[in-house]
Amino acid sequence: MSKGHIIPLVHLAHLLRRRRLATLTFFTTPLNAPFFRDSLAGTDASIVELPFPENVPDVPAGVESTDRLPSMSLFVPFVYAIKRLRPRFGEALASLPTVSLLIFDGFLGRTNDSASKFGIPRMVFYGMGNFSQTMCREVSVYKPHAGVTSYDEPFRVPGFPHLWLTRSDLEPPFDDPDPDPKDPLYQLIVEAGMATQASQGVVVNSFYELEAAYVDRWNADGGPKAWCIGPLCLARQTAPPAEKSGWMDWLDSRQGINRPVIYVSFGSQAEPSAAQLQQLATGLERSGLDFLWVVRAKAMDLGQGFEERVMERGRVIRDWVNQLEILHHGSVKGFISHCGWNSVIESVSAGVPILAWPLMAEQKLNAKFVVDELQIGLRVRPSGGTPNGLVMSEEIERSARELLVGEKGKETAERAKYWAEAARKAMDGGASWLTLEKMIEELCVKRTTQNAIVSA
Ligand code: UDP
Repeated sequence: MSKGHIIPLVHLAHLLRRRRLATLTFFTTPLNAPFFRDSLAGTDASIVELPFPENVPDVPAGVESTDRLPSMSLFVPFVYAIKRLRPRFGEALASLPTVSLLIFDGFLGRTNDSASKFGIPRMVFYGMGNFSQTMCREVSVYKPHAGVTSYDEPFRVPGFPHLWLTRSDLEPPFDDPDPDPKDPLYQLIVEAGMATQASQGVVVNSFYELEAAYVDRWNADGGPKAWCIGPLCLARQTAPPAEKSGWMDWLDSRQGINRPVIYVSFGSQAEPSAAQLQQLATGLERSGLDFLWVVRAKAMDLGQGFEERVMERGRVIRDWVNQLEILHHGSVKGFISHCGWNSVIESVSAGVPILAWPLMAEQKLNAKFVVDELQIGLRVRPSGGTPNGLVMSEEIERSARELLVGEKGKETAERAKYWAEAARKAMDGGASWLTLEKMIEELCVKRTTQNAIVSA
């Protein structure tokens, strides 16, 4: 029920179609169905629509996806609303002729009960990378931050001598070694963890080489195995759209005059505050760089006359864009990103270095992975030493220039190219290609007819 979880599974449907390994059926709700339908064109996947529960406390009518929530503070009630679909899901599942495997969204916890009733193997999908997934589990189980009172005091993660985290790298409830058992978010995470443990595996949109140590650690714990079958975005063989968008023409024009472009997007859910966006506008303007900036809040004022002043070298888009297409455009040489996992793995696949600007969820862990482990990015730092302070325009100007035209930027760009090639190989007959085949071979209930996978 969020774009960041839907998009990779849609890529999976394309991949399964291309490789003729299985067909996918998606369970979703009416307002999400059109997005599925549009992006599934060319696959043999089908969609089952379950009506969204009515009169859900705190969730406004007409909101069926996290990107429509007025605030992410409503995430927990939203997930509990979706869980009310469980009985209908069970009925719908029973009516399908052949189901060999169920992939369920990790946050939906016990949705998988109905599958176990029918003896269908179950896998979970969180849309996260291995590094963040493993770190969340390590801190929950082993509590290396017990006794660490300050948010910026580094602590070691056992088993990874080179790795230091701080509590500010973690989001609630993971940042707290002693979380309140009555906290609804904590309860949701515990339920998700239990459902994960009860599953037969975890689908991961990443590739083994990228995060080998963390995949190995996850798998060494004897729980459900992590199956790395990505980057799924490389599964998509999109034909060029019938009509080219204006911003693609503009990117072509930048390539023509050899001016590198920095792409700016904070994903489908989060949006920095108005004050923060104005700092960003000023920073981009002062940097002198060319930029393509996707702003979610359509009515957001970026400062008087900003868009007119930068017209020659900047574009602000208040629309849904094809991010993959943009990242693969030859003139895009850097990405200012909130480090949602899809954005990270898409940028890795395209060989584009990242200016990491995490905002919520596991994005701070992803940013750490990008900057410290892969070294394919730089990080912007908020002022005042607090993780939630404003990132000032001077910091944005300096770090964006460093990424696009500085020495450190050159090094990150070279490493990003290496990982893009490794990603391509993984999906093109390499580790991810083979893992997908093995996953289906090992986990799908054996049937005489073609396998079918259900995603909920
Ligand atoms: N995305 C897109 N167009 C947009 C905004 C986002 O195609 O205008 C896609 C992006 O390519 C990625 C997903 O939406 O696949 C966002 O997922 P991510 O994990 O990066 O962040 P989230 O939105 O979950 O915070």
